[in-house]
Amino acid sequence: MMIRFALVPLLLALNFSMCKKNEVVSQNPQPPGASSPAAGTTTAGGSPGVAPVAASPKIKKPVVDQTAQTIIFCYHRLVDKIRYPGTEITPAAFEAQMKELKDRGITVISMQDLLAWKRGEKNIPPRCAVITFDDGWKSQYEVAWPIMKKYGYPFTMFIYTEGVAGGSLGGGQAITWEQLGDMRDNGVDIEAHTATHQDLREGHNIMLASTGGKKTRTKLTGPQYEQWVQNEVVGSKQLLEQRLGIKVNCFAVPFGNYNEHVKELARNAGYEAMFTVYGQPITFTSAMDSIGRYAIEANKPKVFEDAVKMIGASTSGGAPVAEVGAKDLATQPADGETVRTALPLIKANLSGIGQIEPGSVQMRVSGLGVVPATYDPKTGAISYQVTQKLREKSCSVFVSAKSQGKKVEAHWTFGIEESPARAAPPAAQTPKK
Ligand SMILES: [Zn+2]
Repeated sequence: MMIRFALVPLLLALNFSMCKKNEVVSQNPQPPGASSPAAGTTTAGGSPGVAPVAASPKIKKPVVDQTAQTIIFCYHRLVDKIRYPGTEITPAAFEAQMKELKDRGITVISMQDLLAWKRGEKNIPPRCAVITFDDGWKSQYEVAWPIMKKYGYPFTMFIYTEGVAGGSLGGGQAITWEQLGDMRDNGVDIEAHTATHQDLREGHNIMLASTGGKKTRTKLTGPQYEQWVQNEVVGSKQLLEQRLGIKVNCFAVPFGNYNEHVKELARNAGYEAMFTVYGQPITFTSAMDSIGRYAIEANKPKVFEDAVKMIGASTSGGAPVAEVGAKDLATQPADGETVRTALPLIKANLSGIGQIEPGSVQMRVSGLGVVPATYDPKTGAISYQVTQKLREKSCSVFVSAKSQGKKVEAHWTFGIEESPARAAPPAAQTPKK
């Protein structure tokens, strides 16, 4: 008996540690591996819903709100007198926009938080904005930064390296490496925007600057183009990383002019996200290689208003519900799984959702309605042993709870295929995760 007792937790630990590794690979539920039946029999005899809960502290990933939305703004120069309305804005207009975000309850988050959310690692508020500045202008350091500090907003600088003061394209209004270093030291995110800020597609008109400072208009193809574009996409990243001692994982494409080849170069160079200037709300499923930003220009004030309205509209349809993925709740049976019993044990782990209001947890099962599920606030486990046979071939489960005043809901579906040949106990199928 002693040995038996010692073995049970061991088997469980083994089972769960193996599942962790498999998590990434097996999106779709696979037939149970060799270790599952062993652990299955150990839990079958125990009180349902208690033993497998041992896995709950292993779930490190928080459950992210997949309904959150972000808008990303792109600014250029801040000047009192607008001469180039396509890339300039007055400090007063800029500050009014920063204030409006605050007044409208749109949270300004950092780019790295946005990316962490996209990876499923971190939650963000339901409606967010990310602020970015392109090209590296002195006014971004001298004028924009103090305003951003005043509001406590994080932001990202997209720099093209030859445009920094001292570079072949760095004029009198260019930001300096020292200023960039100062920003870096104070938590400003600095990311890549090529070396010379041009159309990155092969065979397009570009300007080449020779060492003497002479500029020639040309079109590059073949190996010459490859060498040039390599420096634009990869070389600029390396230069920023080396000069500033930072990690660069974002790439803003000048004018949004790129193609599959450029995307591949960027991906291979280690960029996690690529940005264009085709503004659109960013959702959990938005493609990482074409994240649209709203370019704010003095002559198009409507762009800002439209962008703000885009995510403002998403909450107008009744009480907000945050949808979370069933995978994040380590559900049993898993989403898409087929079980061999019409009397399954249904489980989920809500520990990743965060603070859950007592009494707000509810489980609904198709064909049964609300079921008297057991919820353990300590482990976050909710479970229900079905006691009357499920009659349909597929079963949908809805688990909901209130967290920080917001309703959070997950739902998943599993199939039922009773095999009369086997008289196995129903619970033998359950431990899959
Ligand atoms: Zn630019």
